[in-house]
Amino acid sequence: MLFDISQAVTENLTDKGFPAKERQVSVLRLDKIHPVVSGNKLFKLHYFLLEAQQSQHKTILTFGGAYSNHLAATAHACSLAGLTCIGMVRGEEPASFSHTLRQCRDEGMQLRFLSREEYDRKEDPVFLEALRREYGDCTIVPEGGYHPLGAKGAAGIHQCIHDEYTHICTAMGTATTAAGLLLGASPLQKILVVPVLKGMHDFNERIRYLTGNATPSAGLEWIDGYHFGGYAKKNDELLRFMNQAWKQYQLPLDFVYSAKLFYAVTDLVQQNYFPAGSRILCVHTGGLQGNESLPPNTLTY
Ligand SMILES: *Cc1c(COP(=O)(O)O)cnc(C)c1O
Repeated sequence: MLFDISQAVTENLTDKGFPAKERQVSVLRLDKIHPVVSGNKLFKLHYFLLEAQQSQHKTILTFGGAYSNHLAATAHACSLAGLTCIGMVRGEEPASFSHTLRQCRDEGMQLRFLSREEYDRKEDPVFLEALRREYGDCTIVPEGGYHPLGAKGAAGIHQCIHDEYTHICTAMGTATTAAGLLLGASPLQKILVVPVLKGMHDFNERIRYLTGNATPSAGLEWIDGYHFGGYAKKNDELLRFMNQAWKQYQLPLDFVYSAKLFYAVTDLVQQNYFPAGSRILCVHTGGLQGNESLPPNTLTY
């Protein structure tokens, strides 16, 4: 690991007054591993970084949007690991860069902007082969680390979990983190996933691809209905919830992922979704750099 994962402490929110009703709710602070680079992304990158370090080319090429936590994490990790790093960005080059792209550039990532049509070919083997020819042999990381190696890396999150939990909860984008948590889970543990995108229906196919298991696991619970309208969508209720979590637990949440996860878990506890006696661990997957795209003073932290 390039990072000191001992920073990822677990906090017991029940002790801080979380209305948990005979359940224990804790949070694993992967966001504390690094102030800018979000926690789960580092785990997903782990095996790709190793592969690139052990190669001749020492280069990583990957894909993401202008606000992508994945691009930010890849840029930072490559700069620490001494790897060349190329970012394929969705959409035409903007007149002014987002804070995410500025940070990527400052970390030494070479940025190349792809039209939406080109970007849509990001998984097309012919297109990837052409990129490999152009940039020399390189390690290609799919968008968001969506690959069995990404899931294998995400299974490493279990190294930060030091207690017995009945439920481990995570926000879900590509499902790579969820698949990794599942790979490392004990047989009785449930992995509860909260999609932040609207209308995700290929969840089982994703888990099958990522874990290499033909049958979807009974250990997964998929909770839809907390996406707040879709990816990166938000409303005043969610923002109020974030400010409240900060006030009450000094827990900084990001509006794209972790806020929706915590909102869901809070709601599910109130609805007695979890059996009494459950020990629930919410994984704070980081992503706080994304809050920089909110208007100033939206958040109190
Ligand atoms: C990318 C991301 C996720 C989603 O992870 P997947 O492995 O794509 O499901 C969750 N939380 C944060 C903060 C992220 O940046």
